[in-house]
Amino acid sequence: MVHFVGAGPGAPDLLTLRGAALLEQAGCIIYAGSLVNPALLARARDGCAIYNSAGMTLEQVLDAIRRAEAAGVDTVRLHTGDPCVYGAIREQMDALDALGIPWDDTPGVSSFCGAAAALGAEYTLPGVSQTVIITRLAGRTPVPERESLAALAAHRASMVIFLSAGMLDRVQAALLEGGCPPETPAALVYKATWPEEKLVRCTVGALAQSGADAGIRSTALVLVGDFLAGSGYQRSKLYDPAFTTGYREGRA
Ligand code: SAH
Repeated sequence: MVHFVGAGPGAPDLLTLRGAALLEQAGCIIYAGSLVNPALLARARDGCAIYNSAGMTLEQVLDAIRRAEAAGVDTVRLHTGDPCVYGAIREQMDALDALGIPWDDTPGVSSFCGAAAALGAEYTLPGVSQTVIITRLAGRTPVPERESLAALAAHRASMVIFLSAGMLDRVQAALLEGGCPPETPAALVYKATWPEEKLVRCTVGALAQSGADAGIRSTALVLVGDFLAGSGYQRSKLYDPAFTTGYREGRA
């Protein structure tokens, strides 16, 4: 059986308890290259076959899984953050279904959550934004035209831009083209929750320059939106003394 496991954003103690248990019993671990903290592999039992998928094709990953199945051991397919965003898991799950190999999926802490924690930020401030857009710039992987960064920026929602730290000038241009005022708060979070984590707060108008100054080109998220200012929001209704909920009688 194959267990897809979210490794979390980097810090080894941000792995789930279930993910840890699966790693400890696996006979084969295939981890997603440099974005998975190698410290997690210390959980592998003696004799576990360990592969770095950075140098492998989908076919080679499937071969390694087939060998583990033939040996009667479970495989953990360890993906950075949570496997459900930019994890390329669908194609693996479909191939495993075709091979008749069962699988399950254990979530992890996505880097967009690790980045918010590092900044002490809440994406969904009442009166500011109640929407988080997770996206990327088109690189070699295309992005549907209707999801262009400029089109998404027009919503002025909280945004998390993955896989684009090497193209900050294009990110900045697209955000401005979409109508994001240049003074809109932005942040770059490099290697959130790793010891070498770097946080750069700036504005959309200064994004590319700030990234260049900090030497950030990869393994970073771009966060954009007024939520980063952490001001101008309304108090929550849930904890408002005057608000009645199913659990509490409001008093004016
Ligand atoms: N499934 C992962 C994303 C994989 S795509 C998740 O849930 O986080 C790889 C991209 O994720 C990187 O290019 C970078 O944009 C982002 N990323 C992954 N880990 C990160 C981290 N610790 N800090 C900042 N960005 C990270």
